[in-house]
Amino acid sequence: MRLLVTGGMGFIGSNFIRYALERHRDWEIINLDKLGYGSNPANLRDVEDNPRYTFVKGDIADFELVKELVKKVDAIVNFAAESHVDRSISSPDHFLRSNVIGVYTLLEAIRKENPEVRLVHISTDEVYGDILKGSFTEEDALVPSSPYSATKAAADSLVLGWTRTYRLNASITRCTNNYGPYQFPEKLIPKTIIRAKMGLKVPIYGTGKNVRDWIYVEDHVRAVETVLLKGEPREIYNISAGEERTNLEVVKTILRIMGEDESLIEFVEDRPGHDLRYSLDSWKITRDLKWRPRYSFEEGIKKTVRWYLQNEGWWRPLVNERTLHPTPWKLGW
Ligand code: NAD
Repeated sequence: MRLLVTGGMGFIGSNFIRYALERHRDWEIINLDKLGYGSNPANLRDVEDNPRYTFVKGDIADFELVKELVKKVDAIVNFAAESHVDRSISSPDHFLRSNVIGVYTLLEAIRKENPEVRLVHISTDEVYGDILKGSFTEEDALVPSSPYSATKAAADSLVLGWTRTYRLNASITRCTNNYGPYQFPEKLIPKTIIRAKMGLKVPIYGTGKNVRDWIYVEDHVRAVETVLLKGEPREIYNISAGEERTNLEVVKTILRIMGEDESLIEFVEDRPGHDLRYSLDSWKITRDLKWRPRYSFEEGIKKTVRWYLQNEGWWRPLVNERTLHPTPWKLGW
């Protein structure tokens, strides 16, 4: 299979590419990434010389470029997006361009140049908004709370509209919060590990009671592989490991694993519009496609802490006042 992966220099895309090259020895992968915020070529240094891997620097909103790439492949996985919620609060325009215009451009390129191509569009649980009790299914309405999730919900609508009208072979995945190797230091879990390792205070927004549904990135990557190979066109698949934790519990667990004291915790001003709880019902992907997560939160978080402690050479160049800022939503782009 010839596969176009967009956004493959980011956290999840790079984990997907490494996994796919290793697991499918007959796959050829083109990685299209604009090397924007949060991307990092060091994420894929170990596969750079693989003859089945090609990197193209470019924007999914560039029709001329995307059209040429779309012609060459059998399938596309679209990870490309501006993904940092905090940044969407200070600079929503970047999010409109990548997450909405970018997806529109990709769909148009597919429609005009290669309508048979298989597309898996990577969305997020954040499109549903928050839920105080119970869990969202794929049938629930989209009620986004941030500029980030609003642009992701808009992209989902475009994919559904194009898929139905032009009969494209596309599926959508909506996954919960990922964690694991190669996650940018600005995000909660790596920031906690890195700041604790550096002996700095560990910031938590508001009261720390916000609940997220955590999944180890390798489990998400296997779910995307499953949807790519077995998913039905025009179907949406929620992806969750059912591991809900408050942010405070997550930080305390990391500090315990690292042998650090809870006195490092510092509560800071909350992010505006901060969703209280996310929770997904992912029974459909288990029932129809037989996917199941393999890692409990306890196992995944131990592996993650170990990875960051052993890979200081990866994160050290990314550490600065911005990436480790306690309230990045207050910063400009
Ligand atoms: P990331 O920010 O680490 O990576 C995104 C990558 O996309 C970056 O390398 C960036 O340069 C690239 N990119 C952005 N705009 C682009 C454009 N216009 N053209 C080409 N490349 C572009 O994000 P991530 O955490 O790896 O998330 C990947 C996808 O998964 C996103 O679509 C996100 O919405 C979705 N998702 C993430 C999570 C999570 O917990 N991180 C959960 C559910 C869904």
